[in-house]
Parts: sequence; structure tokens; C-alpha cells
Amino acid sequence: MSAVLASARRIVIKVGSALISESGDVREDWLTALGQDLKALTDNKQDVVLVSSGAIAVGRGALGGGIPRRLEEKQAAAAFGQPRLMAALNRAFSANGFTLAQALLTLDDTEHRRRWLNARATLETILAVPGGLPIINENDTVATDEIRYGDNDRLAARVAQMLSADLLVLLSDVDGLYSADPRHDETAQHIAEVDGLTSEHIAMAGGANTASGLGSGGMATKLMAAQIAYGAGCATLIADGRGSHPITALKQGARHTLVRPSLTPRAARLQWLASHLKPEGVIHVDAGAATALSGGSSLLPVGITGVDGEFERGAAIAIHTPQGEPIARGVTAYSARDIALIAGCRSDEVETRLGVRGRPSVVHRDDLVRDNA
Ligand code: GLU
Repeated sequence: MSAVLASARRIVIKVGSALISESGDVREDWLTALGQDLKALTDNKQDVVLVSSGAIAVGRGALGGGIPRRLEEKQAAAAFGQPRLMAALNRAFSANGFTLAQALLTLDDTEHRRRWLNARATLETILAVPGGLPIINENDTVATDEIRYGDNDRLAARVAQMLSADLLVLLSDVDGLYSADPRHDETAQHIAEVDGLTSEHIAMAGGANTASGLGSGGMATKLMAAQIAYGAGCATLIADGRGSHPITALKQGARHTLVRPSLTPRAARLQWLASHLKPEGVIHVDAGAATALSGGSSLLPVGITGVDGEFERGAAIAIHTPQGEPIARGVTAYSARDIALIAGCRSDEVETRLGVRGRPSVVHRDDLVRDNA
């Protein structure tokens, strides 16, 4: 297992409310130790994204300290708790040279392609800053029942998918998957590793672990998260993170369940693009761009000769050669209208034409799948 942690290029780590707080107080020493663990990963040139729960848990004191039950009480508790949580994370992590960047996401940000592109570009930009550490939580204060994840396990998996991470680590108070619920069945066997999840594994998971009333996860949401990650070519590690230095403990072989993916993140993404994209328009390119695309490059404005159809940023488009042959499909970072304005432009002219500085490529290579490739 330590091999998976050692070799991952990009790791999304989710910490549950039960780790962040105890009786409404932040576990400052635990967080400081976590910061040191994350520093060891970034020193090893691994990208790290932290999905932190705990806003409701540390904010509930402001509402009188009881367990919030109604949605608006949870939302208000999160509103009080989120800045407290960030302040605590800042205290704990800045000593390790991290600069924290908060991103509060809603379900829409990961389910709608256009917002997904924005969120991804923002998180990539944060990760490119030396010491930049994205801290993600759900935007609990605005997310109502129909539009919320409700649990950060799946949110973390979506973030891992969005960022083509190769490892998702779910730290909570359970050390992995068991053949039965270990709280009620003493013959339950721990499962150290699985290659993909079956309906039997899902059946083993049992319901949400709502005993504390503060976190919303449980083994069921962890397995749903692992399934999302699996589909995205990302491994998932489920482990008990309550002890100090939970990542170091994992490197040293602490008990966990590892769900191994069968594809790389890139292969999974290309497969997803190939099966999901129904083009809403066509971008025509010159011979030079067609050759560059065949070689695996992104599509730049300079190689575009024309555009058909009306579509917005985030739409699926087909790319055609000068002979009118489809060569690729992808997700566009520009609308049809803007593409018509910047077709044939060098990248440094785009800003003058559009009045805003857009993305360098019209279709990024990661958002592009070649036909017949
Ligand atoms: N977003 C919630 C919080 O910060 C936690 C959700 C969960 O328990 O996974 O309190």
C-alpha cells in the first residue's frame, strides 16, 4: 500500500468531522501533525488537495451547542464554523509553508460541464502556486437538499475525478471495509484490498454512520465515493485517521482498504469522453492543426478556420479536417461566438479580440478524444 501513496502524482485527502473536532473544539494538535504529513507529500513533488469537513461540527457552538437537526440550523452552523475551521487550518498549516486557498463547491460545480471547467481551472491554478494548498468543502450555507452532496466523501471523489488525481484518501473513524458491520457482528472480516467494487461490497457497507450526528458519511458513502473514483481511474484508500500523523501511519502500513482502479485517470477520462460526448457543433481546423491534434496536442485558436453551430463554453464539439473529416471530439473552453472571433489568431491576440484573457487552448488535450485513435 505504501507503494500507492508513494507513487501517486496527485492525491485528494478527505478528513471527516470526527477527526477535525472533538466536542465542538478543533483538534489543533492533530491538525498540526496532519500539516506535517502533507508537507512530506508536497516535498516529494506530489500535489495535495484537502477536502475538509467539520464546518458544522465546529460552528454548532454558536447556535447553542446542540446537534443541529433542521437543514437551516446545519447551514447556519456551517456558516459560523467554516471561518473557524479555516483559521484553525491556517494556524496548523502555515508553519509548514502552505498558503491555503479555500474553495466551497456545490453539486452544480461538478455536474455541469461549464462550471466544472471553471472549477478545474481554478484548482489547477492554485496547485501551480508553490505552497498553494486547496482546502475544499461543500458550500453548505447555500446548498439546499436537492442540490447538495450532503457528504464530503462523494464531493472528494468528484474533485479527484475533476483533477485527474490518481489517489483518493478517505480518512474517518473506520479503518476500511468489512465483510459485515463490525459494530454488530464480531465475525466481520476486514478487507485489505479489492480490484473494483461489486454489488456484494456495496451490500456489506450498511447504512450511514450517523451516531455522532455531525458527519453525514458512513461506509455506504465511502463506497459510493470509491466507485466514482474507480470510474475515473483513481485508487481509493479508506483508513482510520483519528491517530496523530494519519498519512505517515498509512505509509508505515496502518490498516486500510485499498480499492484499485483498472485504468489510469487519463484512459478513464478518454473513455468517458468517447462515450458521453454528443457534439453540439463543429470546429474546422487547418492541416497543421489536424496534424498537431493527431499527435496529441491541444487545439489552439491559430489552427481554427471556422465554426458551425451555436454552443456555449463547456459544450461538446466535433473537430473536422479541411477535407471535412471528423478527427476528434472534445469539450470547448470557448463559445461558438468567441471561436468565430478568434479563429486564426495567435494566442497573444486573443485578449485584444475578446477583451478578456481566455484560456490558452480552445480544446485542451485532456478534454479531447481522437476519433479512430
Ligand atoms: N460539509 C459538512 C461540514 O463541513 C460535512 C459533510 C460530511 O459530513 O461529509 O460540516
